[in-house]
Amino acid sequence: MELVTASPEETEAVAARLGERLGPGDLVLLVGDLGAGKTTFVRGLARGMGVGGRVTSPTFQLVRVYPGPVQLAHVDLFRLDGGAELGELDLDGLLEVGAVAVEWGGRLEASEDAVRVVIESLGEDRRRLTLTGGSNGANRWSW
Ligand code: ADP
Ligand code: MG
Repeated sequence: MELVTASPEETEAVAARLGERLGPGDLVLLVGDLGAGKTTFVRGLARGMGVGGRVTSPTFQLVRVYPGPVQLAHVDLFRLDGGAELGELDLDGLLEVGAVAVEWGGRLEASEDAVRVVIESLGEDRRRLTLTGGSNGANRWSW
């Protein structure tokens, strides 16, 4: 699925619709340059999931966990320095208990089951969002 948003609010709204359908074991990989809107998208995911708390960029932490009806773990791999730190992440453990959203998700080994969200700036406030994947659980996602 490909669509263009014209404001951060529109990007959040798209993400919230996805968030409503996320459950434990779901992995969302966010791909896009600095300032593309990855954190903005995660903010929408959290809203859709009914997760409270302020979602900010976890750039100085590898992962931030937001409790909710379904837990959301927000990971940022921007400053990841090699495999050792990635091992500390315990992605499988996080996926056992909740959904996981990963900024700079292209740095993870691609899982076919993951939902991939590519965000590209089209200038000013316009962003192209391309959502693919999520083959886990036949036709769960409508793209
Ligand atoms: P990233 O996490 O990819 O570095 P952020 O979500 O932190 O990006 O920042 C995106 C910036 O772009 C914010 O300042 C946001 O307000 C702005 N922005 C403008 N238009 C959009 C849009 N259509 N979608 C998402 N963010 C947008
Ligand atoms: Mg960010």
